[in-house]
Amino acid sequence: MKFIKTFILLILITVIALGAYAFSDYQKIMKEVAPIQTITFNELEINYKSASVQYFLLNGFYPIQREFQNLDNVNLITANILNTLSVLEMDEINITYPDQTIVTFVGTSQIILEENGTYLFNIKRVTPDSITYIFEFSVDVESMPTISISNKNPVQGELLIVEIDNIQKDSLIEIESHFRPSAIIQKDYTARFYLPMAYREAAKVYPLSLTINDQEYNYELDVKTYEFKEIRFTVSASVSSATVGNSDAVTQYRETIYPLYETFETEEYWEGNFIVPVVGARISSTFGEMRYVNNATTPSRHAGIDYAVTCGTDVLASNAGKVEYAGFLTMIGNTIVIDHGLGLKTFYEHMQDITIKQGDMVEKGQVIGHVGTTGYSTGCHLHFQGMVKNQSINPDFLFKIND
Ligand SMILES: [Zn+2]
Repeated sequence: MKFIKTFILLILITVIALGAYAFSDYQKIMKEVAPIQTITFNELEINYKSASVQYFLLNGFYPIQREFQNLDNVNLITANILNTLSVLEMDEINITYPDQTIVTFVGTSQIILEENGTYLFNIKRVTPDSITYIFEFSVDVESMPTISISNKNPVQGELLIVEIDNIQKDSLIEIESHFRPSAIIQKDYTARFYLPMAYREAAKVYPLSLTINDQEYNYELDVKTYEFKEIRFTVSASVSSATVGNSDAVTQYRETIYPLYETFETEEYWEGNFIVPVVGARISSTFGEMRYVNNATTPSRHAGIDYAVTCGTDVLASNAGKVEYAGFLTMIGNTIVIDHGLGLKTFYEHMQDITIKQGDMVEKGQVIGHVGTTGYSTGCHLHFQGMVKNQSINPDFLFKIND
C-alpha cells in the first residue's frame, strides 16, 4: 500500500515538474520577439515583417504555433525585368504570379520578372532547431524598355548604334526611319542595331520611331552638315572606257555588288575600333569627296577613303568578320567585302591580289591581300569603304566606334 502511495506521489511530482518545465518553456516562447532578418531586393534592404514559429515542447509532444506581429506587407515597385534578390542559402523562396506559383527555389541571386504585374514573394526560413520563419512581400513590375542612341546630333556619314535594354524575350521590334537600319540582334533582354546617316542625304531633322510590342518611342535625329572636300583630276580615256564607260563592267559590278546590300550575318563579329587597313599610306581621296573628273561639270561622289601606298603593301582586315565576296570585277579590280555582323560591311578595292577566299572568317589585322591598281584606278592605292545596306558611312566613325 505504502509502495503504491509512493508510486502515485512520484507520478504526481513528475507531472508537476514536467508541467512546470512546459509552462516555463511556453512562457519563454511567448516572450520571444520575431527576429529581424534582412533580405535585399534590387539592393533595397527589406526587414522581415512577419514570422510564424513552430516549437516542439517536451520532445515533440506539444507543438505550438505562434504568429508574431503581423505588419503590413512590403510593396515594391521595380522597373527592371532582371531583378536581384539576396537571401541566405537555406531560404526557400516561392514566387506567385498572378495566382499560381511560378518559381520555387532555394537561395539564388538573380530572378527575372518578365511580365508586368504583381508578384507575391514568400520566403521560408527553417533554422537548425526547427523553427520556421515566414516572410511575405509583393513586387509590382512596371518595366519599360530603355533605349540609347549613340548620337542624336550626328553628322552626314555617321554610323549610329541603337541599344535597347530591359525588354521581354522575343519582343517584336519595328524601326521606322528615313535611313535604312541594319538587321537587329536580339539577345535575351537586349537588342541593338546600326543606323547609318547616309552621307548623300540632306542635313536636317529626321524622325526615328521604334515600336516595341505595340509601344511607340519617338526620337528626332538632327543631322548636321559634314564638310566634304572637292577634288579635280584626270583619268586616261583607256582606263575610263575599260571600266566606268564599259556597260559589261557596269552590269557585272551591279549584279555582283548590289545583292550584297541586302545580305547580313545574324551575329556580330567585330570588336573594338576598326583599324586603318594599310600602314604608312597617304590619304589621296577623302570620304564623300566631290570629284570633278576630266573637267566634268557635275561631280561624282567618293563613297570611301583612298589610301595611296606602294603596290604590294599588305591590306589588313579592318575588323573581324566573314568574307562575303572575294574576286575580280572589271570595274573595281580585285575586291573583298567583309560582313562584320548585322550587315555592317567593309569593302577593299583595286587590290593586286587576294589571299583569302569567300566564306573565310577573318580576324582584325589579318592580311587579306595586297595593294594594287586594278580596275578604275590611276595609281597604287586601296579604296576602303564602310557600308550598311546601300548606304556608305564615313570610315572615320568605324575607327573610333568604341571610343
Ligand atoms: Zn576610292
